[in-house]
Amino acid sequence: MIRDAAEFRAAADDRREAGGTAALVPTMGALHEGHVSLIRRARAEHAWCAVSIFVNPLQFGPDEDLGRYPRDEPADLAVCERLGVDAVWAPTAQEMYPPGVLLPSPEPGPIGDVLEGASRPGHFRGVLKAVHRLFDACGPCTAYFGEKDAQQLFLVRRMVSEERLPVTVVGSPTVREPGGLACSSRNAQLSAKEREQAACLFLALTEAAELARGGERDAAVLVAAMAREIGATALAHLDYATVVADDTFEEIRAIDRPARALVAARFPSARLIDNLRLPSAKPATAGS
Ligand code: AMP
Repeated sequence: MIRDAAEFRAAADDRREAGGTAALVPTMGALHEGHVSLIRRARAEHAWCAVSIFVNPLQFGPDEDLGRYPRDEPADLAVCERLGVDAVWAPTAQEMYPPGVLLPSPEPGPIGDVLEGASRPGHFRGVLKAVHRLFDACGPCTAYFGEKDAQQLFLVRRMVSEERLPVTVVGSPTVREPGGLACSSRNAQLSAKEREQAACLFLALTEAAELARGGERDAAVLVAAMAREIGATALAHLDYATVVADDTFEEIRAIDRPARALVAARFPSARLIDNLRLPSAKPATAGS
């Protein structure tokens, strides 16, 4: 495990000089099956695979769960070793953000202020600053992100293209528990009862997907169905339910292009998010 940024960069440079490509999987640790799927894919597709572990204080608001965020470095290192990760970079806050050094702080723009950005002011500014720093430390690489955090994936992709960073961003599908709950480090904060009820996020998204598959084109109908499902769950408090265009992340009224449904809900012990790409309508069969 590496703490030092220069040592991490040297390890990546050595591999690239030897002719291989580098993969990076940025994480905040407390690794679960979602992270595992990203790491397996990164490892299968590249000669050298690095995982970063850093709980980024800049992306947590003052009233959020930074202090309670699950951390288990020994368990994370064991997972990385088992998966054959070549380098784990777990910087200290000082190594990540060296005092007195003015690091780039990319602008998230308007999409950074809606949905997750509206509920968590400053969140995406913190995310992009950290991700930019990770990319800079690693150098040219392919970076793997989960679709679970779709708005983050969208903004990271845009940052990379606007700043022409030497990084290829790969989005990977959401890994779910058997009941549909998306794997998340925050699931560990839930009580048994909350965990059971947390399935309402996926149920809501599945209902929206069914409506879209059945030909419903009015996003408001999907939003109402999702809000009803989450609203009927005793321990869940709906934060938002919406439908966005997949290529712009702007909220849409008519589902007339590739679209994604997104939900966020607060439980007493944690706030959870999830999303699902909406299927296109099933063509009507003759006689129906
Ligand atoms: P985090 O440690 O929560 O910052 O997540 C690190 C990376 O893992 C991000 O790119 C997430 O989108 C991704 N990730 C988190 N949960 C899942 C999941 N259930 N399935 C796939 N990827 C995930």
